[in-house]
Amino acid sequence: MSLKNQWNRRRFLQAAALTLGGSVLSAGCSQPTGGTESSAEQPGSKRDGGLSEEASSPDRFVKEDTQPETSTERKPAEGSLKHVLVVGAGMAGLTAAQELSKAGFPVLVIEGRDRTGGRIYTDNRFGFPAEQGAQWIEGVQGNPLTQLAQQLQFQTQPTDFEDIAFFGMTGKPSDATELQAIERGFGLLERQVASYSGTTDVSVGSLLQSVTGIPEEVRRCVALVTEDGSGADLEEMSVKAALRAKGFPGGDAILVKGYSQFIEHQAKGLDIRLNQTVKMVDTSETFVKLTTQDGTEYLGAAVILTVPLGVLKASTTTQAGIRFVPELPAAKKKAIADSGYGLLNKIYIQFKQTFWSNQQAFLTVLPPKDDDFVVFVNHAHSHQKPVLAAFVAASFARQLETMTDSQLTQAVVAKLRVVYGAKVKDDDVEKVLVTRWGQDPFALGSYSFSPVNRFQWREALAAPVGKTLHFAGEACSEYNATAHGAYSSGLVVGKAVTAALKS
Ligand SMILES: Cc1cc2nc3c(=O)[nH]c(=O)nc-3n(C[C@H](O)[C@H](O)[C@H](O)COP(=O)(O)OP(=O)(O)OC[C@H]3O[C@@H](n4cnc5c(N)ncnc54)[C@H](O)[C@@H]3O)c2cc1C
Repeated sequence: MSLKNQWNRRRFLQAAALTLGGSVLSAGCSQPTGGTESSAEQPGSKRDGGLSEEASSPDRFVKEDTQPETSTERKPAEGSLKHVLVVGAGMAGLTAAQELSKAGFPVLVIEGRDRTGGRIYTDNRFGFPAEQGAQWIEGVQGNPLTQLAQQLQFQTQPTDFEDIAFFGMTGKPSDATELQAIERGFGLLERQVASYSGTTDVSVGSLLQSVTGIPEEVRRCVALVTEDGSGADLEEMSVKAALRAKGFPGGDAILVKGYSQFIEHQAKGLDIRLNQTVKMVDTSETFVKLTTQDGTEYLGAAVILTVPLGVLKASTTTQAGIRFVPELPAAKKKAIADSGYGLLNKIYIQFKQTFWSNQQAFLTVLPPKDDDFVVFVNHAHSHQKPVLAAFVAASFARQLETMTDSQLTQAVVAKLRVVYGAKVKDDDVEKVLVTRWGQDPFALGSYSFSPVNRFQWREALAAPVGKTLHFAGEACSEYNATAHGAYSSGLVVGKAVTAALKS
């Protein structure tokens, strides 16, 4: 079944704003430092994401003897007043660090996890690159990551988001009438958003409620699929923000050998310190001092903080996270409080063999209740492997994070039985990978969005504080919630700090 222009990953709302009349939608769409797994095979523990020889070679700045992680002994500070410190070895941090390094500044990248990449994490346990985080280059035309992929000769492959096998609530393949209703449902919501001209902001959910003439299961499907894009419940999502959202045209593409290729490239030649969770950022002097959980201190001329919005939120609302000395200014705290931070998770299940067709890229089952598994990515189609990946978002995803892998597997299998009946056997499940980005202390969620009536916080979030404290990352970008947004933000801030330090 083809829904003309209806489906592309997440960009329903962005495309509505771009094309006013074309339509789109996200086929719905990963764990702390790598998801949990319920088979005999254990996830790889330490990934250095392509840490270069140089980075892992004897330290250029630190004394030789490393302290045990729990040590509270005082150690000599690392770095120097010529260094630029970058917190976070995700796409934004590595990109900023490369800019500074190219300009000749010594750079130290401080990363809390035991791997690089952050919300980009390719997992190879199924025999193909299973993405726990970013999966698609979203909108290939004009996208800086397309250019980078071409330059580095990374193979990409378009995904056809219209290539979906639809099933009704009882599991029967959708007939022509049902397909029309689905197409109409998505089209109507998109038009409602694109034509919204009210002075006050409203939620995307309220616009969906005002759509008439579509079955309730279609309305629920439209809601759940759209939520994958922002990780937020439709009732939280701002229409004003949707109308301002930016994106690239041209459809989406996967990286044939995995998204982490970008990370491996961006990490090359950098001095990256893994397992270093920053606990304090002190900018009370003319230089910067960072203190990590094991008491290591890093000194630098400036710091670029690329920790996810979730970590900034925890830092300003709880004792967890990072302590700022002096406290962050009121405008920054307001931006952090006003922002929204969504959740998207993936549940990959590998079966002994396929009991479903490999003909279509996605399976979608109309939901009989508000929260349900609706979108499955068909890896029998894309990678010829008996693996389905269920995408779940927003409050439903938060609810599911409290369940064990085995409970989740049972729930997904029960859903698949609605369609495939006795063909789905419990002992057919071979391997499971569940992401829990919300419980991941280094992410605390998936990506940023703008809540209703609070769609103007991003600029203040991205603004530097004084001359020494800079911010970058997906949430600071107008291309938020994307890998290219993180990349662009890293590039812009890397250049800005270079210019400032040179002047
Ligand atoms: C499930 C999911 C699916 C996605 N799908 C797509 C997609 O298909 N296409 C797309 O373009 N984008 C997608 N995204 C979004 C994309 O992955 C992110 O926007 C992007 O990777 C963010 O990069 P970043 O550098 O801003 O942040 P991050 O990658 O999160 O990097 C921040 C780094 O800071 C580290 N850190 C955190 N706290 C501390 C601390 N206290 N001390 C030291 N280090 C710390 C973290 O460990 C992390 O490495 C997806 C994201 C998720 C979660």
